[in-house]
Amino acid sequence: MDKIIFVSGGVCSSLGKGVAASSIGALLESRGLNVRMVKCDPYINVDAGTMSPYQHGEVYVTDDGAETDLDLGNYARFTKGRLSRASSITTGQVYDSVIRKEREGKYLGKCVQVIPHITDEIKDRILAVAKEENDTDVVIVEIGGTVGDIESIPFLEAARQLIHEQGKSNALSVHLTLIPKVAGGELKTKPTQHSVKSMQEMGIQPDILICRSPVMLDEPTCKKIALFTNVDIDAVFTSPDISTTIYQIPIIFYEQKLDQVILRKMGVESRHADMRSWNSVMERYSARQKKARIGVVGKYMEIHDTYTSLYEALFHACLENGVEVELVKIDSSAIEEAQNAGSILDGNVDGILVPGGFGERGTNGMVKAAVWARENKIPYLGICLGMQIMVIDWARNILKWSDADSTEFNPDTKYPVISLLEEQVDIKNYGGTMRLGASDVMPEDGTHIASAYGKTPISERHRHRYEFSNQYREEMKSSGLKLAAYNTDRSLVECVEWPNHPWGVGVQFHPEYKSKPMKAAPLFRDFIAAVKKSV
Ligand code: GLN
Repeated sequence: MDKIIFVSGGVCSSLGKGVAASSIGALLESRGLNVRMVKCDPYINVDAGTMSPYQHGEVYVTDDGAETDLDLGNYARFTKGRLSRASSITTGQVYDSVIRKEREGKYLGKCVQVIPHITDEIKDRILAVAKEENDTDVVIVEIGGTVGDIESIPFLEAARQLIHEQGKSNALSVHLTLIPKVAGGELKTKPTQHSVKSMQEMGIQPDILICRSPVMLDEPTCKKIALFTNVDIDAVFTSPDISTTIYQIPIIFYEQKLDQVILRKMGVESRHADMRSWNSVMERYSARQKKARIGVVGKYMEIHDTYTSLYEALFHACLENGVEVELVKIDSSAIEEAQNAGSILDGNVDGILVPGGFGERGTNGMVKAAVWARENKIPYLGICLGMQIMVIDWARNILKWSDADSTEFNPDTKYPVISLLEEQVDIKNYGGTMRLGASDVMPEDGTHIASAYGKTPISERHRHRYEFSNQYREEMKSSGLKLAAYNTDRSLVECVEWPNHPWGVGVQFHPEYKSKPMKAAPLFRDFIAAVKKSV
């Protein structure tokens, strides 16, 4: 039978539950077990695709085209288990399918209720992940929100039922809490005691506690927590604040024997943990020299979560190149308003990255940043919108089509160099209707993208409605812009590159989703390699 580990959180949000769940996954994989990760999100949106970055941060896209919570990005960076549409369960999806079934008469005249119908739907979806692949050993289910929230009650109730039905050794509860330090320097266990009481009120006795704390907890503190919570003393762990990187967390948990305790409680035998790849991440982290200042020119720059995968991919690429990354977050509207881009960028950045985005606001500032990088021979990586921006710059400033634009920003432009994908023309609904998920890309010989990947075809993920307009292919090409990759039937331009420039590459897809701490996404790696030459 597959084992299930529920990871819940208490006291407050932002304690690192996603990283803790991912780190548990990483540790179990280091022992040779096959792990699948699942996120339960209590919001009523069917998926994260329709939410603004202010509400939700980044939308993480899976190979099969689901628009999911950013925690799935953590899972992808820490673990190898396949992520799919099934890996993200939201209240919206659960209610949507229960209500559909009710309309189809599937409940045979019964009154449809939260218990058992909603909870059954949640349980079925969790168990379906276990069955999706036949070699799965452990499914780790992270329950979003904080215990005590009204919204997460059905998920915790489903967890309680599964723990009861599967038996203690087949389904564990790991609970993450906070041990704050108050003025005077004392660590306080009371919020943790209350948080565990809330879990117990839900009928769940946590088996393992992970306590987020400014420092490693000492034995008397762990004893006190164990006494008040019915958790074994050797099952109380610390997730300390760290000044290094989140990729140290699996090692910190390993040193506390978290994996051993989990396996003992589940009665699983496995080989010893092989932590070499995590140790080597930390060795590379310590060996970094010099700084690469990367100007990220986008919107919503005040929120780190907007571009989590992108920032992580830059970090991975810098690790691989032996340099430290310094993120210079620049609101594109500021460049738009500035007299010239150089007044903001000159001397402040060694490379420019224009990320994905939607809507017109700030796009002219992005174009100015691209012009500056092109003319000053500064390495540039454009992702999705960032590629479209390169095309708009080229049309306006090299081909002298001054009003060239994307029809997303100016539907009446004389030169719609970026236009709606044909398949999108008749689509009216917003949710889940973009070109989404993995598809193959074929790089052309002699391009940066070909040398980055070194093999064809490559599979990368997409999330867009607009594309390079094919009617301008010839003029773009003959004026020197390199059309460096296409999709397999060559109907879509997937990559453009600047000529006579050290490294200026824009791609229609999102390489950041597949970047890992031990293996950076190839285009990020080569972008930083180009930046490194000048630092
Ligand atoms: N808004 C653009 C489009 O829909 C770019 C999307 C993106 O950057 N993800 O094509």
